[in-house]
Amino acid sequence: MTGPAAGAPRARTASGMRLRGIGAAPGIAVGPAVVVGTARIAPPGERADDPAAAEAAATAALAAVADELEARAAAASGAARDVLAATAMLARDPGLADAVAARTADGEGPVDALHGAVEHWCERLAVLGGTLAERQTDLRDVFQRAAARLLGVAPPGIPPLAEPSVLLADDLAPADTAGLDPALVLGLVTERGGPTSHTAIIAGQLGIPAVVGAAGALAAAPARIALDGTTGETLLDPDDDAAAELVRRAERRRALAGTAQGPGSTRDGHRVAVLANIGGADDARRAVAAGVEGAGLLRTELCFVDRVAAPTVDEQAELYRRVLAELDGRTAVVRVLDAGADKPLAFADPGPQENPALGVRGVRLLRERPELLDAQLAALARARAATGAELRVMAPMVATAEEAEWFVARCRAAGLPSAGAMIEVPAAALRAAEVLAGCDFASIGTNDLAQYLFAADRAEGRLAPLLDGWQPALWQLVDAAVRGAGDVPVGICGEAAGDPLLACVAVGAGVGSVSVSVGRVGLVRAALARHDLATCRRMLAAVLGASSPERAREAVGELADPEIAALAG
Ligand code: PEP
Ligand code: MG
Repeated sequence: MTGPAAGAPRARTASGMRLRGIGAAPGIAVGPAVVVGTARIAPPGERADDPAAAEAAATAALAAVADELEARAAAASGAARDVLAATAMLARDPGLADAVAARTADGEGPVDALHGAVEHWCERLAVLGGTLAERQTDLRDVFQRAAARLLGVAPPGIPPLAEPSVLLADDLAPADTAGLDPALVLGLVTERGGPTSHTAIIAGQLGIPAVVGAAGALAAAPARIALDGTTGETLLDPDDDAAAELVRRAERRRALAGTAQGPGSTRDGHRVAVLANIGGADDARRAVAAGVEGAGLLRTELCFVDRVAAPTVDEQAELYRRVLAELDGRTAVVRVLDAGADKPLAFADPGPQENPALGVRGVRLLRERPELLDAQLAALARARAATGAELRVMAPMVATAEEAEWFVARCRAAGLPSAGAMIEVPAAALRAAEVLAGCDFASIGTNDLAQYLFAADRAEGRLAPLLDGWQPALWQLVDAAVRGAGDVPVGICGEAAGDPLLACVAVGAGVGSVSVSVGRVGLVRAALARHDLATCRRMLAAVLGASSPERAREAVGELADPEIAALAG
């Protein structure tokens, strides 16, 4: 649910192997690699003579795991505590206990029944996709811990570390990550997992640099790893020069990011608001600390991914009030629920669909379930009244003028003065003049715009080259949308704008604000400050005139400030 999935391109050079995963927790780490074993407890395939005793044994093991995790949660703090408590809740889930009971009743032994029940739930989470799919790791960890208890063996996990090391794993159980000692664990690299997985969140909180989605790292069996948790760059068995270069580049990037402060603008003073993409009040606090001028995209659906029942108006009003209070008068662009496809919400489920990404999702779903939208708008209006915030509300996945009109009318009826549309469906980009006629603003979402333009699933790593933010066709569409918008202010909030040079290209196309992940704010602001508007326009022309993403990158690199060009990406 961030940008296009990294495709983990790899290249072996004389100085080792270079992979690009997904930066999941910022920072640089260089050190000896310790592989976290993938040997796992497998179901023994045993039958039980006494189903009641088998059920009791399995249930007791789950309860003991829940007790252990709750005790560790009580001793932890912040995200680690929340994750341990959430994993304990999985172990206590009545649905899991029912599935175990059904299997023991069929004569399965306790370990097999536990395994079957957990895999059954994992399958259901996988179908839901997105952040819910990422919870499979937590659930499988519950099985491993419970099975280890039943078999009287130590649970699989991280081996004792003799020296500060970089951990390399297929995936790490959140409960293991929560117990990591930052003095001994320099960094983490996993082949699986997404940037919103619990493992990534805890690593960030512990200050351990992490890269996820680094496919191919385990097979290379490196003795030493260097990683950049911001960019996802991972070097396996680098020589000293290559590792030192990675560290130097990260330091230069950090220094460069600190060179431009205050409101964003180009070198010649053309104002461009630099905003952050956020998922809740904690992100808002981090964004403000990074000096942003506001939030350009609050993905409200991220606040409710674990919810079965729809949140009440009171609950939502309090949540939005906290976000707006953190932003403390800065711009707040809030997107109403974008449920469906890669962002499933249990309480806003459109039902089975052949092709969810092309199905009832975003504003289409809200039109089927207007009570969800009206509750959210009422809560937002209340939070706005309580804080006096400069609140703008926008709809996801708008395709037609009629959808935009419907949304704007609902916002007005709720007393919200600023209503807009995301431009992330090619039809809306091509017909921006009509779609935005009644809107107060628009925000271009390049993640979905690229997905639908190239007919390429954004979660499919093998299609990552089609979803490259440098694709000239994408910018042709952005250019058309901004032109069509006329006087309606347009910002950009897709991941592409987080590339400092593409942020300049976007400004060349005429966007007035860029909203990027918090870690990219400094570099984007610095890049804008080094280029004047005329150069930004030339950069856009260079992209539009290029025959491939590589040529577009090259052409813009020639126009760019050399230091920015060297450190961008
Ligand atoms: C987008 O599609 O570009 C966007 C910003 O929204 P999301 O990534 O949440 O779909
Ligand atoms: Mg989108």
